[in-house]
Amino acid sequence: MRAPRTIAIAAIWSAIIVSHFACAAAKTSADYLIRNGTIYVGSDDDEFRGDVVITGDRIVYVGPHGNQRFDARSVIDATGKIVAPGFIDVNSHPETYIRSTDAKQRLNAPWLFQGVTTVFIGVDGYGTPDVGADAAQFEQQRVGTNLVMYVGFGAIRQRVLRDDARAPDAAELAKMQSLVARGMCEGAIGMSTGLFYSPQSFASTEEVIALAKESAKRGGIYDTHQRDESSYGIGLLNSVQETLRIGREAGMPVHFAHIKALGVDVQGKAPEVIAAIVAARAAGQDVTADQYPWTASGTSLDAALLPRWAVDGGRAALLERLDEPASAMRIREEMQENLRRRGGADSLLLTASGLPWTGRTLAQMAQAWDTDPIDAAVRIIRTTTSRGAELASFNMIESDIRLFMRQPWVVTSSDGSDGHPRQYATFPMKYAKYSRAEKVISVREFVRSSSGRSADMFKLDRRGYLKAGYFADVVVLDPDRYAPKADYVHPRVLSEGVEELWVNGRAAIHQGKLTGDAPGRVLRHRPPAGTCPR
Ligand SMILES: [Zn+2]
Repeated sequence: MRAPRTIAIAAIWSAIIVSHFACAAAKTSADYLIRNGTIYVGSDDDEFRGDVVITGDRIVYVGPHGNQRFDARSVIDATGKIVAPGFIDVNSHPETYIRSTDAKQRLNAPWLFQGVTTVFIGVDGYGTPDVGADAAQFEQQRVGTNLVMYVGFGAIRQRVLRDDARAPDAAELAKMQSLVARGMCEGAIGMSTGLFYSPQSFASTEEVIALAKESAKRGGIYDTHQRDESSYGIGLLNSVQETLRIGREAGMPVHFAHIKALGVDVQGKAPEVIAAIVAARAAGQDVTADQYPWTASGTSLDAALLPRWAVDGGRAALLERLDEPASAMRIREEMQENLRRRGGADSLLLTASGLPWTGRTLAQMAQAWDTDPIDAAVRIIRTTTSRGAELASFNMIESDIRLFMRQPWVVTSSDGSDGHPRQYATFPMKYAKYSRAEKVISVREFVRSSSGRSADMFKLDRRGYLKAGYFADVVVLDPDRYAPKADYVHPRVLSEGVEELWVNGRAAIHQGKLTGDAPGRVLRHRPPAGTCPR
């Protein structure tokens, strides 16, 4: 139907008057105007061409023609570029950087150059219960990215029970519970565990539940590197069930860290893991996961191969057992079986820097030393700590990775640890390989699973979306150049393609280079009223 002519003319006139008025009227001043980019806001909405305006630490405008309303101190032309919320890495190990005595290291560049503006730390159960003091130190020393902190089950267990393989008595359990409570009250987002790792592996499910409840009461989430991602002990699917049970009985959301099916015995089992989680979600349980897009996991030779009983009591006890012929024989037998699970000595690439085995597989070292792989592994374990025995362990298959990636309850994480390219290149890897080249997910889904969905999952206050009123964590990236540069042999190469990056409204990267500013904040969780001492 056609509008009557007079109304059409009136509409044209009023449009001219309004636009003229808008030009003539005083514009609002702003700090940054990001012009004419392809905007992904972090939701399921379609991308669109437009502008993003930043003032102070907030986004003040997202939409078309921001230039008609804002007069910005600095204008960035984002034509042909992607503008997205700064990415959120919900599982990371940036300690080498953020705890460095060198201010430049604390910029946390490996993450900034991936477009990441917030990282979660204290995962795998390693987060200190002294969350308040730790957070204060980060804020005083300044860090480049925002930080979200977990209180760690492992750190607490070790403080109270050391490395011992036993259950706590009542007083010890109460002490551990009070430490979880303290961490939560000081701002932890939840309690992390790494039940795969000793001494956490010595804890019963009931012990974990008793501690998790202290986090649940204060609005926490349960994050876990689960007890078994493979066939080491209870097995992958039983381990998934244990995690779900902990969530149900503690009464809290559960989150699987770096979900995967690890090793030859469980490869191809992603559909079964997904079915178990989908069933729990359908029954009303809050269950989510994160994932890194790599076929190799990052661990250490000792964690990958040694049986857990061998490290009961710590390193000194281990070395004694290796000296004692009967126990040494048993250790070797179990190591042989663990090596089989991991796909053999060719699948284990040693990545710690500056050592005789750097960049070589366990098979190559065995050959170099003219011995068998178990002997070579024992030799390395004897002469170095877990740090020197860092490993890229090739034990995931592509079909599992792709299937996990497509789930609407899975978000991106790097699990970025020293010696694995995922520390420098996870987000570009997911974009360049899985979204752009192989189209496993759309670019919109890449952004969503790296920002808005992550913020929703963890209830981060006004983060994860490009939205007026939200904190200005914003990335501008070149869709043709955004790509990983690090690989397994050269794991410490910065990614490319991030041209501009703001953290809390301050530029951390400008024209592809670090500005030197460290605008990160600690994003503290606030427990419900009445659950913490005042
Ligand atoms: Zn882990």
